[in-house]
Amino acid sequence: MLDTRELGRRPGSQRRKSFTAPAPADLGIEVLRVPDGSPVVFELRLEAVMEGVLVTGEAQADLVGECARCLEEIRDEIVADFQELFVYEESDTAHGEDEDVSRLEGDLLDLEPLLRDSVVLTLPFQPLCQDDCPGLCTECGARLADDPDHTHDEPIDPRWAKLQGLEHDPEND
Ligand SMILES: [Zn+2]
Ligand SMILES: [Zn+2]
Repeated sequence: MLDTRELGRRPGSQRRKSFTAPAPADLGIEVLRVPDGSPVVFELRLEAVMEGVLVTGEAQADLVGECARCLEEIRDEIVADFQELFVYEESDTAHGEDEDVSRLEGDLLDLEPLLRDSVVLTLPFQPLCQDDCPGLCTECGARLADDPDHTHDEPIDPRWAKLQGLEHDPEND
């Protein structure tokens, strides 16, 4: 929750806010997320407008995840941009009845839904350890980026190949 009291409500009034807050749980997508409790650095500009407070800025955080092709751990950073109008509670303007609109709660505004939306929108649909990750060998499951030239003389036993298809990461169990 961010207190907007010092901003006041005179349209045109502006404040800059920089602060760090711990990441909420489950921020991101399953394969790429901001670790729970890790620092999220906000750089915000708050601007009072007629209907409420316009919030513009960015949030920067660490990311961890797995490559969609080879399952190698990924460590990266995200910078999520956002802009959102938080309408005053008592405002009953045209879209005041709209349930999708973000509202101030008194002088407080809740950044968490905004942060979640912008992080998810910013994340790549399929995270990769490197842009041209060659993935895993279809025969033995080796990570091809580590061993791009390896070959198989004999086709692998199909029963073994089937077992590999059932393999899964116990951490995601
Ligand atoms: Zn990879
Ligand atoms: Zn192989």
